[in-house]
Amino acid sequence: MTRLPHSYASLISMRLFRLAWLLALASGLAFATSLAPPRKTSLPDVFLITIDTLRADHVHCYGYDKVETPTLDKLAASGIRFSQAYTPSPITNTSHTSILTGLLPSVHGVTDFAIPLSSEHETWAAFLQKKGYHTAAFIGAVILDSKTLAPGLDQGFDFYDNFPEHAPSKERWGRVERRGMDVVDHAEKWLTAHPTGPHFVWVHLYDPHDPYEPPAPFAEKYKEHLYDGEIAYSDSVLGNFISYLSKHGWYENAIVMVVGDHGEGLGEHHEDTHGIFLYDSTTHVPMIVKLPSQADAGKVVDAQVRTIDLLPTALDLLKVPAPATLNGESLKPLFTETAATDRTAYGETDYPLRFGWAPLRSVRDHGFKFIQAPRPELYDLHVDPKELNNTYAAQNATAAKMRGMLSALKQNAAPKTEADSSGQNSDKLKALGYTAPSGAAADTSSLPDPKDKIEQQNLLHTAMIASDDNRTADARGALEKVLQLDPKQPTALRQIGELELKSGDFAKAAEHLKAAREVRPDDSTAAFYEGQAREKSGDWPGARDALEASLKLTPGQLPARLLLGQVYLKLKDPKAAEDQFEAAQLLDSKSVEAQLGSAEAQIMDNNFADALPPLQSLAQTEDKNPKVFELLGRAYKGLGKNAEAEQAENRAAALSSNH
Ligand SMILES: [Zn+2]
Repeated sequence: MTRLPHSYASLISMRLFRLAWLLALASGLAFATSLAPPRKTSLPDVFLITIDTLRADHVHCYGYDKVETPTLDKLAASGIRFSQAYTPSPITNTSHTSILTGLLPSVHGVTDFAIPLSSEHETWAAFLQKKGYHTAAFIGAVILDSKTLAPGLDQGFDFYDNFPEHAPSKERWGRVERRGMDVVDHAEKWLTAHPTGPHFVWVHLYDPHDPYEPPAPFAEKYKEHLYDGEIAYSDSVLGNFISYLSKHGWYENAIVMVVGDHGEGLGEHHEDTHGIFLYDSTTHVPMIVKLPSQADAGKVVDAQVRTIDLLPTALDLLKVPAPATLNGESLKPLFTETAATDRTAYGETDYPLRFGWAPLRSVRDHGFKFIQAPRPELYDLHVDPKELNNTYAAQNATAAKMRGMLSALKQNAAPKTEADSSGQNSDKLKALGYTAPSGAAADTSSLPDPKDKIEQQNLLHTAMIASDDNRTADARGALEKVLQLDPKQPTALRQIGELELKSGDFAKAAEHLKAAREVRPDDSTAAFYEGQAREKSGDWPGARDALEASLKLTPGQLPARLLLGQVYLKLKDPKAAEDQFEAAQLLDSKSVEAQLGSAEAQIMDNNFADALPPLQSLAQTEDKNPKVFELLGRAYKGLGKNAEAEQAENRAAALSSNH
């Protein structure tokens, strides 16, 4: 990629060039041959801004007067505002994948965190990269990190601003979440370093996602409604970005698209956050498109549209052929037509499966919404926009027709792929308030209706956030309430087990985790935690059984292998211990713990000769580790080398006392 110095002179000459071209066109003159042919930069830059967890009805230009969103208002005045835009998914990962592919969740297959996006589904960035665009993505949450929780979403991006592999601190900022200002700062730095266009830049602002913690002055100004404070903050961040673009001449000719990835329950339908239901509270999002030179400024389109229509629109505007397989359609015809027709909006959520509840499907069409659930729902939105009066009846013709539409959609569904189950991503998910995946039932028809369980989900979410903030008592209280409602709730049992494990009540932890595994025998993480709890409480056979069970389900877990090796040492079974430490070294050949474990097992087995050489080399590389010298002493002693043994023992003692 070429890096051009960004000089003011080159900007001016570019503007003069454009001006000359426009004048030539306007006056009907043939394009002067003395001018160079249009450069690649005549293609408009494309800036896609996704604002997480943004309800349409909490934005000022969508009629909400308790928040100030001057940037969004101004963008709407400079572009086209879609008053009725819907996301097909109420969760971040799935929803963004739909925006970036123009496909429904069941078609792109990314229906859960960490499910890879198949390379057969081309992304927005990939389409534009082929057209000569310089592409970059700037994300605000680790949920969209392409190395961990969103594999494959980086397809087509020259640069994808993932999170650092090793978090700089234990704080959530920088580890699992970035403030909008940091996201935009990264994007601006990249643009400054890569001034050659055309650009496709995706900026993701995560701030309105809970917990609601806007920075000053928004925390004070919106202290009674902090969610709105996060929205106002995001708007100010967007304002900063737009100013930057204007200052560098990248705004006027650009296509700017702003969209919410999903809304927020805010207690409607008893849902505090999002992910479980498909009501408008979490699926109706703001959507604004600013065209080059502010064409069609101030237009409002009231026809029902979808967030999957954005990609086909961009392709249409840039004259890039869109594959016929896209579920979305270009919105361009709606820019000019006055009486545009509604588009059918589908909704899909598999998130309830994480809790053992039925997944939901919905269709919003001609002023009706049908939700396929164990207890189906039908709302006449003309008279019941808040979806409060379920008019579903088995014989209802509208419901039957809409059910048929959902069945037809199923034909195109992608085959199910399993999410990553190594367990390494679950901590990051938890820090963001999501429960880790667990074995989903193959047959979902017998699962409970999420409507009957939403109170549990709210409590589980509260517990997760409290636990991550180290508010143990709050977390325990919420989890105990869930278990009062449903003593066999597997997510609650596992969470409370983890919580007791962390707070040191190992016997209680082991009991809860055992109960969790009885409900979900395929939960390898619960088994690993139970192994830890039993090991800590000195129950070696119990620890062995739980860890063996965990590793049978998920063989690639290094910490579980290491712990099982230690447990076998405690059980005085050096052969079995060595097997585990060898397996651990296959997973990570550099693991010092695995090498030390192997050596210790060999010493226990009186195999001093084999234990010695690796310990001697560890003594060079790990010369501050007392365990190395302690084992070295024992190996020398076993070989009858008493002088060396004594020297190693002294070194071990000296290092230990330094600790
Ligand atoms: Zn989201």
